[in-house]
Amino acid sequence: MSVTPMMAQYLEIKAEAPEALLFYRMGDFYELFFDDAVAASAALDIALTKRGKHLEQDIAMCGVPVHSAENYLMTLIRKGFRVAVAEQLEAPEEAKKRGSKSVVKRGIVRLVTPGTLTEDTLLDARAHNYLAAWCEVRGKGALAWADISTGAFHVAGSPRVRLGPDLARIGVSEVVLAEDSGVEGIVEDLGAAVTPLGRSAFDSGSAQGRLQTLFDVGSLDAFGSFDRAELGAMGALVEYIEITQRGKLPMMRPPKREAASTLMAIDAATRRNLELTRGASGGRDGSLLWAIDRTTTAGGGRLLERRVSAPSTQEDIICARLDSVDWAVTNDTLADDTRATLRRAPDMDRALSRLSLDRGGPRDLAAIRGGLEAAEMLFSRLSKTDLPLDISDLIGQEELLRLLDAALVAEPPLALRDGGVIAPGYDTELDEARKLRDEGRGVIAALQKEYVDATGIGSLKVKHNNVLGYFIETTATHADKMRTDERFIHRQTTANQVRFTTVELSELETRILNAGGRAQAIEERIFASLSSAVLAASDSIFAAARALAELDVATALADLARGEGWTRPRVDGSRAFEVTAGRHPVVERALKRDGAPFVANDTALTAEDGAAIRLLTGPNMAGKSTWLRQNALLAVLAQMGSFVPAEAAHIGIVSQLFSRVGASDDLARGRSTFMVEMVETAAILNQADERSFVILDEIGRGTATYDGLSIAWATLEHLHDVNRCRALFATHYHEMTALSAKLTGVENATVAVREWEGDVIFLHEVCDGAADRSYGVQVAKLAGLPDAVVARARAVLTALEEGEREGGTKPKAMIDDLPLFSATPVPVPAPKKESAAEGRLRDILPDELTPKQALDLIYELKSLT
Ligand code: ADP
Repeated sequence: MSVTPMMAQYLEIKAEAPEALLFYRMGDFYELFFDDAVAASAALDIALTKRGKHLEQDIAMCGVPVHSAENYLMTLIRKGFRVAVAEQLEAPEEAKKRGSKSVVKRGIVRLVTPGTLTEDTLLDARAHNYLAAWCEVRGKGALAWADISTGAFHVAGSPRVRLGPDLARIGVSEVVLAEDSGVEGIVEDLGAAVTPLGRSAFDSGSAQGRLQTLFDVGSLDAFGSFDRAELGAMGALVEYIEITQRGKLPMMRPPKREAASTLMAIDAATRRNLELTRGASGGRDGSLLWAIDRTTTAGGGRLLERRVSAPSTQEDIICARLDSVDWAVTNDTLADDTRATLRRAPDMDRALSRLSLDRGGPRDLAAIRGGLEAAEMLFSRLSKTDLPLDISDLIGQEELLRLLDAALVAEPPLALRDGGVIAPGYDTELDEARKLRDEGRGVIAALQKEYVDATGIGSLKVKHNNVLGYFIETTATHADKMRTDERFIHRQTTANQVRFTTVELSELETRILNAGGRAQAIEERIFASLSSAVLAASDSIFAAARALAELDVATALADLARGEGWTRPRVDGSRAFEVTAGRHPVVERALKRDGAPFVANDTALTAEDGAAIRLLTGPNMAGKSTWLRQNALLAVLAQMGSFVPAEAAHIGIVSQLFSRVGASDDLARGRSTFMVEMVETAAILNQADERSFVILDEIGRGTATYDGLSIAWATLEHLHDVNRCRALFATHYHEMTALSAKLTGVENATVAVREWEGDVIFLHEVCDGAADRSYGVQVAKLAGLPDAVVARARAVLTALEEGEREGGTKPKAMIDDLPLFSATPVPVPAPKKESAAEGRLRDILPDELTPKQALDLIYELKSLT
């Protein structure tokens, strides 16, 4: 059995990364073989071909061109694949030197996975791309997460029960887990990739060493003290990055501990419901982030995304952020200038990360220059103002900035090998080499003229290609004339052309090539030294980038507040939740597009201690969900440090935010919708405390009426008596409004509607009191249900209501009595015989009764029954 040397090499490399598709570099293509080829051709919709045989079987093959490989990579990663990229590690000539049968050396240079991307084309510029690792040591869990495209690195305690919410807050793409962790389901539920790693990678002892090497320190104490689970998680994270980057480590910032208690806890279901960073469609559109994002830089966009995902619970932090937004609202001209400068500031974080992984190009150096320039400019403009933001990190890299400014041309090319990266005048040796190379080109032009004159052939040209180098070309008709001159040495005859060279020309070529090669080598050397100068300053560059992002977020939020008429909320340690004329930022924006006004509503939910709950009833489509969500979003906005869409707002800090909607479809995850609803409600009842804010929308809707009502009823009682939180509870079970009389912390509210000629008009006004009826039939009519069905529904409803009033008759029997498929209009059941009390009531004009008469009437009615 014979295997070709190339196939042997392929199989050997493939065995190193069996779980990934192997991109095997062959010249200008990455080729895939066997099952990889079958999977990739289907995923990428490209042709599947064959190449030779292996063990008597055809070898399936497909390939993608190297120059467009990034697009294919992106598709594969999105579809859940991992890709190992094997490059040629030597020039083909080297291999030939070893023998004619030798195969070019190849090796995996990188494993591309969802959590380890660095290319701009593969990443969303305005979102972090986090890779996480979770480790548990003796029942204590910890999570470490990093974005290798920006160097951000965090660690936090995360017990098993909190892992889901923590991962949801961070928004991870990939999680590294020990092989037997048992939490894979939690990760998969969030749509992130699970990467198992051997137990040894999580060993806290070796983690310490690995981290000390990474940060080049003798001890980790400077970064804080870490327990074994935290060390294990960080160690595994770093090990996995090393595995995927094949030993090259990106520039990472020291780990920052994130204390969960300083952030508003928002679980995954609540995030989905409130559409904080993702809309219903899964993208950014329609989310809160989408509605408020006016940042002008990628770094600012990412910071804003972090703030929306993790609002603070720290009064001082929140107020400091609000102060800077406030400053930018007041100093609008300065703020606008700042935004104009920021708009031109490149993404330094990601440029730095690529440079550290040796994947950087000239444009990444230019990005650092542009960013530092913007930072310096902003510092000189803002340092003398009373901006309440520490911007001292914006300066301190003047020397590096001057160096980059002097060394780089204004707009460097994408690739270093294109040349022309280093500015003229920066390096004399380079200038000389370039001069020689360019002069050489001038001499060629002169030579061409000389040959034209000597031969009298006007169309003679000196040309260049990669095979022949420089040559003289003439048409076949003139070739004879040249053959008579022995200076011209024949090289090649093509269909229409004959090509010659001369001794002079070859010598000149060597000189030009040497000078060109030298210039290229010098440029590469200077590029490398500039890169290391940049990397040496990475800490302060990261800090400057962070300061730029802070400025961007503050001025962007101010721009939003001014443009949309938002106000500064009062945020403190009280348990207030008072909003005057609040609006839903996303619905308002959508309505504005259609030219419709949004009706602002108040919220008053303050309690010194104990529960404060509003029980909201009202027909479908009245605006219940909108009001509930708008209040939850207001809390998020206020605590992330933004102004809010309201005339005034006073929000006592919310530590946990919960939002649940009755029985939404979750077929994709294969759970009964009602089951999901109950699991989620259970989570709230088990976790919510006095500092929580809960919104429950139509809980119990997913089951039979009496079941649902009972569950909703008991849930509300529990929230009131045990959780004692602030809550908004929307329901269509009108029976529940009776609870307000029983529970001191519960008050009824309803969304006003008006009935007009059998139709219902939605006013979207939230007011005190309970809804009198549900107007379901009217809403169904509005929705375009056929007239016959609407009429039939009306009839059934009337029958049911009457049955209920009479108490005795079973509704089912009544409905069975109704003609089913009668022609419209459906006859309404004949009025029953009126009782004496009903007859008396019909004649009464309540407005004309005095209190005394009313009392007498009650005695009279009582005697009639
Ligand atoms: P419900 O939960 O009561 O069924 P929704 O909150 O889903 O009703 O609101 C239904 C629609 O009514 C929304 O899509 C929105 O277009 C409109 N709406 C809701 N609240 C308002 C408001 N305050 N002002 C204007 N339109 C509103």
